[in-house]
Amino acid sequence: MLTQAPRGTKDVLPTESYRWQYLEDRMRKAAALAGFREVRTPVFEHTELFLRGVGDTTDIVQKEMYTFKDKGDRSITLKPEGTAGAVRCFLESNLYAEALPCKMYYLNAPIFRYENPQSGRLREHHQFGLECFGAKEATADAELILLAFHLLQDLGIQNLSVRINSIGCPKCRPVYHQALKEFLAGRVDSLCETCRERFDRNPLRVLDCKEKKCRELTKDAPSMLDMLCDECRDHFNRLQACLDSAGIPYRVDSRIVRGLDYYTKTVFELITSTPDGELTVCGGGRYDNLVAQVGGPEIPAVGFGMGLERVLMLLDADGIRIPEPPRYHIFITYMGDHADAAFRLVQELRQQGVRADMDHCGRSLKAQFKYANKTGVKWNGVIGDDEAAAGTVKLRNMENGEEQTVTMADVANLVVSD
Ligand code: ATP
Ligand code: MG
Repeated sequence: MLTQAPRGTKDVLPTESYRWQYLEDRMRKAAALAGFREVRTPVFEHTELFLRGVGDTTDIVQKEMYTFKDKGDRSITLKPEGTAGAVRCFLESNLYAEALPCKMYYLNAPIFRYENPQSGRLREHHQFGLECFGAKEATADAELILLAFHLLQDLGIQNLSVRINSIGCPKCRPVYHQALKEFLAGRVDSLCETCRERFDRNPLRVLDCKEKKCRELTKDAPSMLDMLCDECRDHFNRLQACLDSAGIPYRVDSRIVRGLDYYTKTVFELITSTPDGELTVCGGGRYDNLVAQVGGPEIPAVGFGMGLERVLMLLDADGIRIPEPPRYHIFITYMGDHADAAFRLVQELRQQGVRADMDHCGRSLKAQFKYANKTGVKWNGVIGDDEAAAGTVKLRNMENGEEQTVTMADVANLVVSD
């Protein structure tokens, strides 16, 4: 128990964190190019925020939240998604009083869901998410889809497919709900248990079910797209016009409904096909009523969440190698009692921006060499009696075995410019 992480969680080891940093760097740059700035919100919020924000008929709220009472008897929940916290922060800090839109992103935000752990499904995962508050135009939806698409494509991910849909607004969706309920009424007994519950509380979600029999049964379900009001249809058409002019491949898929209650109009997913089936790597949409629902003014908004673990999984599956930065430029080994000289040189090198280190474990010279070799370092600098007396270092290129003696002052230039 003591040495085992909780089920569904994963460490990022020092040997692999560069992969995360690489991804984070690309995400930051992509967000900044479009004027999004980083927001950091707490890992936990009042449970009420998610009940109100995410919706109490969703899988997340019904089955997946990590909720507990703190010592002050408040009900607290670990973030099961990123949007509700961003909305709370937007309201609490009156960000809506400034010129809109307010564009923000969160990076590497830990997200907690009590799910059945399996490939690509963890109990703690991390998301990169964007939120754009105060923009009602379809260009805002389009730029998010394009940003996600180009980010993933530029990373080298293959077989990306963009699926978009519109799930209408409170004006037109009730009509659709009714039509869908009538369609499902004759089939409800054959649906899975969860969908039988969904039928009463939230019929739209039946379309989102991953069970094969439910998908079969709803193959010919009526489509929301046939029942959109003029405003929603117009918005959806404009979104498609933007995507067309950007020239990215996408598909209208009336089954995309998303697992959160707050969406209106646009919903979208970026999906890839893997040997184990389809994998959603990014999901988002428009949520024009959420800000008001959480107690703020009527402010339209749109956003997405992208799972970092899933992006890394896809990079692996596609055989894309992430460049690993060198851990060290140089390793200083020393003979006899020249540890102090080695220590001083290492400190100086670091001051000059050189990644340098020495032995801290009392190894013999031979063992120091062996260790240095293991780290994959290219340069090794030896300080023996002669070098210590002359203020020089014997540099050895570990790749070709060539040696040269240089003054201590020249080391930095040599190993970094090389
Ligand atoms: P799914 O349909 O796979 O359950 P979701 O609709 O619940 O996904 P979102 O709430 O849209 O997912 O979360 C956004 C993204 O976060 C997903 O597209 C996915 O990349 C990632 N994600 C969601 N749940 C998990 C999880 N349990 N483990 C790892 N990544 C996840
Ligand atoms: Mg889910």
